[in-house]
Amino acid sequence: MSVETQKETLGFQTEVKQLLHLMIHSLYSNKEIFLRELISNASDAVDKLRFEALSKPELLEGGAELKIRVSFDKDAKTVTLEDNGIGMSREDAITHLGTIAKSGTADFMKHLSGDQKKDSHLIGQFGVGFYSAFIVADKVDVFSRRAGAAASEGVHWSSKGEGDFEVATVEKAERGTRIVLHLKSGEDEFADGWRLRNIIKKYSDHIALPIELPKEVAAAEGEEKPAVEWETVNRASALWTRPRTEIKDEEYQEFYKHIAHDFENPLSWSHNKVEGKLEYSSLLYVPTRAPFDLYQREAPKGLKLYVQRVFVMDQAESFLPLYLRFIKGVVDSNDLSLNVSREILQKDPIIDSMKSALTKRVLDMLEKLAKNEPEQYKGFWKNFGQVMKEGPAEDFANKEKIAGLLRFASTNGDEGEQVVGLTEYLARAKEGQDKIYYLTGETYAQVKNSPHLEVFRKKGIEVLLLTDRIDEWLMSYLSDFDGKSFVDVARGDLDLGNLDSEEDKKAAEEVAKSKEGLVERLKTALGDSVAEVRVSHRLTDSPAILAIGEQDLGMQMRQILEASGQKVPDSKPIFEFNPAHPLIEKLDNEQSDERFGDLSHILFDQAALAAGDSLKDPAAYVRRLNKLLVELSV
Ligand code: ADP
Repeated sequence: MSVETQKETLGFQTEVKQLLHLMIHSLYSNKEIFLRELISNASDAVDKLRFEALSKPELLEGGAELKIRVSFDKDAKTVTLEDNGIGMSREDAITHLGTIAKSGTADFMKHLSGDQKKDSHLIGQFGVGFYSAFIVADKVDVFSRRAGAAASEGVHWSSKGEGDFEVATVEKAERGTRIVLHLKSGEDEFADGWRLRNIIKKYSDHIALPIELPKEVAAAEGEEKPAVEWETVNRASALWTRPRTEIKDEEYQEFYKHIAHDFENPLSWSHNKVEGKLEYSSLLYVPTRAPFDLYQREAPKGLKLYVQRVFVMDQAESFLPLYLRFIKGVVDSNDLSLNVSREILQKDPIIDSMKSALTKRVLDMLEKLAKNEPEQYKGFWKNFGQVMKEGPAEDFANKEKIAGLLRFASTNGDEGEQVVGLTEYLARAKEGQDKIYYLTGETYAQVKNSPHLEVFRKKGIEVLLLTDRIDEWLMSYLSDFDGKSFVDVARGDLDLGNLDSEEDKKAAEEVAKSKEGLVERLKTALGDSVAEVRVSHRLTDSPAILAIGEQDLGMQMRQILEASGQKVPDSKPIFEFNPAHPLIEKLDNEQSDERFGDLSHILFDQAALAAGDSLKDPAAYVRRLNKLLVELSV
């Protein structure tokens, strides 16, 4: 063993300790995946070397074939993985194998409940990577040297997977990384050629470079030990280059786990080869579960880019719009140059046409999923619906297609679950209904009971109930779907079009005429608080309601703007009253101007409360109400 210098012991970052603990306790039933994770890392390291060597061929150091070797020692109870990839420097080893670089990790760890069953789901969302070695090993030695560095600049990293790890500088002749797992007692089943071969075939067959295992050979005459011969055990070709018909679902699934660093199978995928003016292959996946950092601005997104089978970069963001940032996959182009950079990608017109084609592929894949696997699509929507709602604003060209993928809660629906699509909504619309009605608000409970829905309930018309923070903003980008326009039922002068009969309309006009006096009196009483006063046709049970002006901002938009520190234009509501309500009749007959004023302000404030708004002057409301209560009781 070579000399070790500059030996030091360092503590793991807190999050690493938490991850280690969680992993060892949640993955005991799926131990063998450690090999998949380590092979996946080794394959990434080789990809990186191959790419860097394009501009610095000396990194290949004479150029032996790029590969991964897995070996074992039954007596010593070890499994060893060796790659001749990019390798790590001492600093690399300290940061990469001692900390977790993902943003939002600390926050994520706070969600751990201590309940192993629940937490084991979370680990799936997080990905396990290198640390999975500690599922089966109670000591891990990593020997590594960065390609291009001197042999004397090797690093030996060693840890028992508890609180800390040791690093020392060592000689390492060959570039790359060797990982030695000292198996825990009871885990020596992994120090077995047959077992290792099976695990590799099962999880890592798709890895594009050879994975070799030692072959059992008899010792030559006169020699005590046989010479080691190596044998490739995986298929060793890039999965996406193979014809679709020859690829099994399991292979697609394992490949996904490798590129996405995910633990669960994907929900769906789409594998395509494009030939013609542009030539490229793509393999795109929809994950089953949202990653924990989906809403982190710096979270990894984008596809893995290959140029003529050579890995060029991770997280190439220019191939898909932001609202599809949860899609994982690879794209392999024959047209781009091998030294393409992120900056070039942003400007290249080739990328634009690839981007629109890939976007369409994803939307098609989602449409298919929604149509053929509605239950799975429900799950998809729960995980990614919020992100999809960013779509209409970002991707004008595909607005109609995205709108068709949206799901909403509705008055028809299941206690606020977002399951109603627009196509389905229109398919069961009332005869003569040429609008898509919706109502936005803070919570499902609030919108469900909103007085705005009274007339719709009476007429049996379905209304979409939108309570996500971004819904009002979303709707400002959607004007119609399938030729039918969207109508916010809390906005403007509700016109039910053909849904009101001629008689209804005539009757309404007559009522409005007969209440002109009351309208004028209310205008005087409410003064500055309202933009307008009018007779309502949308109420059956409530005395009054506040409608938003056609062009005014709704409550959600006001809140979003206020939260971002912007000045929000002042807008006043429209006060609509229900002429048939006994309170309004009472009001109409009220002789005292003072009482009329009090009662109309109370009705106004109540309408604001029912809409989920807060009162400008709650004390005045209470005072007026109490005054009336006192009068009532004498
Ligand atoms: P991830 O692969 O998700 O980034 P890991 O914990 O598996 O997380 O690995 C952390 C980092 O350690 C990798 O990103 C890589 O930089 C480095 N690493 C791990 N294995 C190797 C290897 N065989 N060769 C070179 N670097 C490696």
